[in-house]
Amino acid sequence: MPLEIQLPGQTNGSTGRIVGIDLGTTNSLVAYVDHGVAKIIEGADGPLVPSVVTLDDYGAVMAVGNSARERAMVEASHTVYSVKRLMGKSFQDVKKESGMLSYRLVPADEGLIRIQIGTKLYTPIELSSFVLLELKKRAEAYLEEPVTRAVITVPAYFNDAQRHATKDAGRLAGLDVLRIVNEPTAAALAYGLDRKNDGTVAVYDFGGGTFDISILKIKNGIFEVLSTNGDTYLGGDDIDRRLMELFISQIQHMAPAFTPTPEQLQKIRRVAEQTKVGLSSAGHMVVEINLPEIGIAYRRNITLQELERIAKSVIERTRKPCEDALRDAKVTAEDLDEVVLVGGSTRMPMVKALVHEIFERAPHDELNPEETVALGAAIQADVLAGQTKDVLLLDVTPLSLGIETMGGMMSTIIPRNTTIPTKVTETYTTFADNQTGVEVNVFQGERDFVHDNRHLASFTLKGIPPLPAGAAKVEVTFLIDADGILQVHARETHTGIEQEVEVKPSNGLTDEEIERMLRESIEQAPADIAARRMVEAKTEAQRLLGATEKVLGQLRRGQLSISAAKLKQIDVASVIDALYALRRAANSNDVPEIVKLHEALERATEPLAHEIMNASLAEALTGKTVEQV
Ligand code: ADP
Ligand code: MG
Repeated sequence: MPLEIQLPGQTNGSTGRIVGIDLGTTNSLVAYVDHGVAKIIEGADGPLVPSVVTLDDYGAVMAVGNSARERAMVEASHTVYSVKRLMGKSFQDVKKESGMLSYRLVPADEGLIRIQIGTKLYTPIELSSFVLLELKKRAEAYLEEPVTRAVITVPAYFNDAQRHATKDAGRLAGLDVLRIVNEPTAAALAYGLDRKNDGTVAVYDFGGGTFDISILKIKNGIFEVLSTNGDTYLGGDDIDRRLMELFISQIQHMAPAFTPTPEQLQKIRRVAEQTKVGLSSAGHMVVEINLPEIGIAYRRNITLQELERIAKSVIERTRKPCEDALRDAKVTAEDLDEVVLVGGSTRMPMVKALVHEIFERAPHDELNPEETVALGAAIQADVLAGQTKDVLLLDVTPLSLGIETMGGMMSTIIPRNTTIPTKVTETYTTFADNQTGVEVNVFQGERDFVHDNRHLASFTLKGIPPLPAGAAKVEVTFLIDADGILQVHARETHTGIEQEVEVKPSNGLTDEEIERMLRESIEQAPADIAARRMVEAKTEAQRLLGATEKVLGQLRRGQLSISAAKLKQIDVASVIDALYALRRAANSNDVPEIVKLHEALERATEPLAHEIMNASLAEALTGKTVEQV
């Protein structure tokens, strides 16, 4: 039954636009509503910001998005991707797949995860905040105004800890996250299904890292999520991985000793993805992977049919969650009125066919499946800004919430798939005579014993008067707000003593921690930039020194085909002087001096470089290929 809820509505004083953000495992996007039309804010390199970050050894962010993705090939251990998989998780949760990542995960206190880059350790929240900051900057550059408020989407399966982590990442990026919205819900909004006739809708979201299926009901323009299901470890990445394994096994057939380095793995991963994407429109392709370091040029033909044979079992894994979601929603495929496709992986013909088969109708695919969620988030943002008034959103709790009762049993207070916001009160009694305190342990999950579920919070209600067992009555109230954040309240009815906690999950950050990190990131920004400049200056200097030394060596050994007459015109002594000067400076930390002497050496080597160019050009024209020069 749909609930009546008050929309936060009117913007009460704060100015500026509210943007909608799809913070994806693979790709992120930012969108806004312009005169009633939702639009993706594109950068120079297109609509998608790959959720990838490159960092240097000293904690400076070197690249985010497409440029970071480029660097992933050569700086695998400094490039972080798929961070969303780590959000709100413990080290134990992710240990088994850490081998598939090219960056290093280390355990921290209380089972938390840190990502090590160079000498620095990062939380998944910090790394996500770098992606959000990039989206914020993109929006600010485009809208030409500060952007400080956002709606961010998360997979329907995200638990409380993961939602908290996402909000925290927003705060670190300087964004006030007004609402966390389930991705499938946003997608339904993007298709404007609220404006259509009443009906039941399935949203099938198959992205790079996650699969979500939601069944929504729309009545009088009101959305209600009837059920959600999915798999947080299923996506296009799994198909890429299978293709990679195929390619690697075939390369190993040619070179049995081949074990790929992180950089090579990254290169193969890229080719695998390009192949997959290419095949879904072209049908057949030629795969080429050159590994000159080990003298291998791998080349083969691949057809869509072959890819589908490899991908079939991955794609098939989306079937059961769909069936479960229908069952939970108490509907059958025939009851559905619409089916919506979301996520880049739904561009595969085989995926569309499977969806058609499961839900017995052709799915909607008019919008770009990668952009749908961000567009919906923008529409939701517009609703919060008070611009769009005729949409109401309701979500459900993805997992059951309850407390521990005697014997370690789980007593569910709010069952999974309950429409939120919601408030439920249950009454419990004391177990022992004269019991003056009650410990309230809050858990999330579907299992009967709490030790199989996830512990969210604990607190003690003290000061209960000594009474016989069962006489004291403790009312426990669970309140979930529209963001899915839980507040637990306990009250003893005789005395009226009460206690309340907002559930701060163990993998989230406390407010103080966030404030501290925010402060540090601001305070350390100038130091970070200075450190990066120094590293860059030194690295560039070493590169130029190496190149110059090499050429001077060749010159000494007469290996350069430059005529004696030309050589006479070149002032080799001044090159050597400049070389020594830069070499000395490069050992110091004097950045302006290094930069100055770098330029001086470049100037000194100019005539020599010019002659070398001419010489190799001449050789090229006498029958050599460009690669051989
Ligand atoms: P996420 O929501 O996980 O960030 P996206 O919705 O952006 O992911 O989808 C990314 C996935 O979609 C990647 O695995 C990418 O390879 C895949 N993808 C994009 N285009 C195609 C295509 N034409 N065919 C198959 N897969 C595609
Ligand atoms: Mg997505």
